[in-house]
Amino acid sequence: MFLRRAAGRPRWLADGCFSWAENESFSVGLFVFRRRRLELRLRGRGEPKEEVGKILKKRDVISAVEALLVHGSVYAPVEKDDHFVFEEIERASDLRLEAAQTVHSAKGAFFPSKDPLVRFDLSSGDWEELPPAAPRFLFGLHPCDTWAMKAFDCWMRDGIPDDRYLRRREHGVIIAVQCLKKCNEDSFCGSMGTYRIFEADVRLTPMNNGYFVEFETEKAREVEEAWREILLEATVEEERELEEMKSGMEDAFSGAEVDLERLPDDMKASFYAPWWRDMGKRCLDCGQCVAVCPTCTCFAMIDECNVSLTECERSRRWDGCMFHSFAEVAGPHNFRSDRCARIRHRMNRKGQWLNRRFGVPFCVGCGRCVTACPVGISPLKVFKRAQGGTADV
Ligand code: SF4
Ligand code: SF4
Repeated sequence: MFLRRAAGRPRWLADGCFSWAENESFSVGLFVFRRRRLELRLRGRGEPKEEVGKILKKRDVISAVEALLVHGSVYAPVEKDDHFVFEEIERASDLRLEAAQTVHSAKGAFFPSKDPLVRFDLSSGDWEELPPAAPRFLFGLHPCDTWAMKAFDCWMRDGIPDDRYLRRREHGVIIAVQCLKKCNEDSFCGSMGTYRIFEADVRLTPMNNGYFVEFETEKAREVEEAWREILLEATVEEERELEEMKSGMEDAFSGAEVDLERLPDDMKASFYAPWWRDMGKRCLDCGQCVAVCPTCTCFAMIDECNVSLTECERSRRWDGCMFHSFAEVAGPHNFRSDRCARIRHRMNRKGQWLNRRFGVPFCVGCGRCVTACPVGISPLKVFKRAQGGTADV
């Protein structure tokens, strides 16, 4: 099953830090999962038996979330002010699994926009570390966001591993929902090869009257146990419907507009192209694109104290390379002082540098930045322009 998915990915995606063989924790999880499937097949029968697929009926989704809430916190799409957002839910009925796309991705569950790290007292020298609140279940991630999470993992494991992020990440159980068609008119996951779920603990595929459920990892055991009384065994017709859904999905995402294998070289070759300057003139420096991007990793450390310096807090907050202040250093110098340099930097991180370094795409084609940008700047247009397109960027 996994080999089939890997075979569908562009070749350059299989060469990086998260190639199947090199991803140690993934390999261990896969081994445990395969052994478990074998055990299930052999248990008490004396001969191999195919495991029966499971169905979560639409009417039972609320019960399924309630069952998870008994075991820990649940982060999922909810509706807020006419938008969908991904955040912790209090009641199962708040879930909006049908949400087209959330304004922000699930990134904030493991990497909050403001994350208090340490509280300290400068007068006495006392300090205490603030432990990270760790979400348990992330329910309803779309496929592009599972790819984004993998890209984020690569970044956070690189060099000195980010212990705080990784502690949260390892605690979290990902329950992803396969999209059967584009969920946002600005998205281009079909072009970035990110429309199939990359990696999740539990995988849900929408059916006419519910979801086909696949438990993928050791961490999924807890969900399987919680849903034991809720799930039904798939009928032969439902197994057939699943195959039809999957093949319809492939059709819906066909027609990629980007050559992913060539993209890093094409971005490099177009580094000094004049159209970057035109785009830089249009950019407003608002930072909306970095605020919504599921693969943007930049942050700043902020210290805040009261006037007597007895109550202080250090926190990590999202920052972004599109802001003028981001590249300001002593002097005062700024090594990306104009907008053209900043937007070119951002697009090259998404389309060239980080995907070369880690072997996974750092733009997953979710389209959030396109929707958010007041002047319509789009990575897809940039990638196509770098590959010889003539349309305005
Ligand atoms: S650059 Fe835009 S389209 Fe690409 S992952 Fe980030 S928000 Fe999504
Ligand atoms: S959202 Fe658009 S205008 Fe705002 S900083 Fe990003 S590219 Fe520039």
